[in-house]
Amino acid sequence: MLRRPLIAGNWKMHGSTAWTQQYLEELLPRVATDGPEVVVCPPFTALAAAAVIVVGSPVALGAQNCHWEEKGAFTGEVSAAMLAELGVRWVIVGHSERRQYFGETDETAIRRAAAAQEAGLNAILCVGETLAQRQAGETFAVLEAQTRDLGRLGPARLAIAYEPVWAIGTGHTATPAQAQEAHAFLRQRARQHFGAEAASRLRILYGGSVKPDNAAELLVQGDVDGALVGGASLDVAGFSAIIQAATGQPSLAR
Ligand code: PEP
Repeated sequence: MLRRPLIAGNWKMHGSTAWTQQYLEELLPRVATDGPEVVVCPPFTALAAAAVIVVGSPVALGAQNCHWEEKGAFTGEVSAAMLAELGVRWVIVGHSERRQYFGETDETAIRRAAAAQEAGLNAILCVGETLAQRQAGETFAVLEAQTRDLGRLGPARLAIAYEPVWAIGTGHTATPAQAQEAHAFLRQRARQHFGAEAASRLRILYGGSVKPDNAAELLVQGDVDGALVGGASLDVAGFSAIIQAATGQPSLAR
C-alpha cells in the first residue's frame, strides 16, 4: 500500500507572526511538490499570516487544537470551522501536553477530531503512554484505551501520532523497534475499526524527540509513515533535513 509520508511540525507556543513569516519564506523553497506531505502548525495567532504565505505551495497549515462545537459560550476556544475559514487543513488533537496541563481526555480528543473532520479538516490524533505506564507493561493497554472510540472518526481525514510521553521534549527517542511495535499495534486497532483496506491507507506518525540525526532510522520502519516534530521543527534547516529523511523512504513505494 502506498502511503505518502507526512511530516508535521508542532510549534507549540512558539512563533510570533513576524517570525512565522520569515520561517515560511525560508522553508517553502526547500519543500518539493512530489516529496513527503508537509504540514506546519503555528500558534493560532500566526495562522492568518501563515495562510497568505503557504497558499498554492506544497506546505499545508495545521492548528494545534480545536473545540468540538461550531460556536458558543466557550471562552478561549476556537472552532474547526473558524480554522477552515482561515485556510487551515489539519488539526492536532489530544496532544499529551493538552492531556497533562489542560484536562484533555480520550473523549474530548475524539470529539475534537470528529469536529475537525466534520468541518472538512484532517485530524492528527495523538496517543501514547507515560514512562510509568511503559515500565508497568501497560503500553498496549493504554493505546487500546486511547483508540477505543476510533470508529467515531472517518479513516480518510485522519492520521494517528504515536507519541510516547516520555519521549516528548526529553531528548529520549523511542528506539526504531519500540516505535514499529507500537505502530503495528495501532494499525491493528485501525483494522478493527475501519477494516483492512482503510487501515492500510492510514498514516501513523511517530513523535517524540525526532531530530535530523534519528529521523531516517525511525521513518524506515514499515508502519512509521511520518513524524510529528516538536522542538526540531522550529529550525528550518533541521525540519528540512527531517523532510529530506522521509524523501525516498520505502513508504513512498509501499
Ligand atoms: C510534539 O510536541 O509533538 C513533540 C513530539 O515534541 P518533540 O519533538 O520536541 O519531542
